[in-house]
Amino acid sequence: MAPALDAAGRPSGAVAADAWNAAHEHLVGFLRDIIRIPSINPPDPPGPELDAANRIAHELRGFGLVPEVLEPFPGRGSVFVRLRGDGTGGEGLLLLSHLDVVPANPDGWTHEPFAADVADGYVWGRGAVDMKGMVALEVGVLRLLAARATDAGLDPASDPIPGLRRDVLFACTADEENGGYEGAGWIVDNRPDLLRCAGAVNEAGGVSAEIAGRRFYPIQVAEKGHEVYRITVRGTWGHASMPREDNALVMAAEAVRRLAVPGEPRVTPVMARLFEEVSAALGAEQAALLAAVAGDDPRRSDAALRAMCEPMYARALRALIRDTISPDVIHAGTKYNVIPGEASIEIDIRTLPGTTPGDIREEILGRLGDLAPACELEHLHSAIPVEAPPDGELYDLLAAAIRAHDPEGVPVPVLAPFATDAKHTIRLGFPVYGFSPLRLEPDEKFLERFHGVDERVGTEALRWGLPVLFDVVATFCG
Ligand SMILES: [Zn+2]
Repeated sequence: MAPALDAAGRPSGAVAADAWNAAHEHLVGFLRDIIRIPSINPPDPPGPELDAANRIAHELRGFGLVPEVLEPFPGRGSVFVRLRGDGTGGEGLLLLSHLDVVPANPDGWTHEPFAADVADGYVWGRGAVDMKGMVALEVGVLRLLAARATDAGLDPASDPIPGLRRDVLFACTADEENGGYEGAGWIVDNRPDLLRCAGAVNEAGGVSAEIAGRRFYPIQVAEKGHEVYRITVRGTWGHASMPREDNALVMAAEAVRRLAVPGEPRVTPVMARLFEEVSAALGAEQAALLAAVAGDDPRRSDAALRAMCEPMYARALRALIRDTISPDVIHAGTKYNVIPGEASIEIDIRTLPGTTPGDIREEILGRLGDLAPACELEHLHSAIPVEAPPDGELYDLLAAAIRAHDPEGVPVPVLAPFATDAKHTIRLGFPVYGFSPLRLEPDEKFLERFHGVDERVGTEALRWGLPVLFDVVATFCG
């Protein structure tokens, strides 16, 4: 089911070239508006997330739609709207996104993080890639679909959109950057009717990445799970003039060292398919390196990673073929001359599909070894890994849309090292794909922009992405 192109090779959907230009201009203006709303999470005080939800709702009302703003907790707004199909195509497609952003210290930024400057071909600002750019793409698609109804003299708020057989759902949530419990998590628990669908597209995948001169588009079909533990290490309090072996700080330092050792690699089916499809698109030399990356010799795997990719991508790939443990907090000690009898460590664990919370507890105890009897484990947080099929109607359509709009591009399935709101929506049983289509310049270090300094998204990348997402929606729902 490849998206149709018009005579000029432009995406079809009966959208003319000048209409695409207008849609692009509109999208960039709207993106700048929402970047200027500092919807920081955690909010201090709550409010800006609701402002962002209201601004998005205002935009949708301008298309003739009737959105709903949800505010289950004061100042924490999410927005929802549904465009109807004629009901003959089955369940709808959900355009999922979040409207909150992480904080941005302006030090080191070339442009103010909330000024939304357009310069050097980019829209600059916190949220440009995570993920207001995708919010703007989704809203841009809704605008074009609503116009189909308005142009036909219909009411897009209540009449079926011409050409749509399935509904198109849009949910843009608060609180994703802090676990999503007051956004997507709340909606899943209290208003699941708003989200039920055949499948969803969400943030982060579908963005081009160059490997050895070829342009790949990793489509996110899986996300790692997340476990957080606090480990309290107990020793004996004492006078610092007579050092003790059971100084809790010294024991905690040894525990951190043991916990931080990288684990054994394990290539999950999705990653195996990624390596296979990337190898097939590359030359023999690169394919051999990839085989070593995916192999079971950790030293060869690491050497191959260093040889074939940027340190940033190597770090990501290393995390995608193993469960990871990152010790990130330690507290110990009261005074320099008092041996501490207690220390606490907090560790962040990201698990591959197939690893259970029980496996992780065993792994931690195994690594602590003879320190385990002195350690008390507290399980603070748990989110299981999320998977969607790397084939089937929706995945195949996402891949086809990439190929149609970038014939040299190679779509591949990928596992994400981080979690998104999909960890909540998975409870409703529909597949979620990370697919926020952007075609980047070859040297752009996109991964560094997530939560980073100088976050920005290319205007031409957005210009490419809008018709891709439009074709996905119009084809799947048409
Ligand atoms: Zn995000």
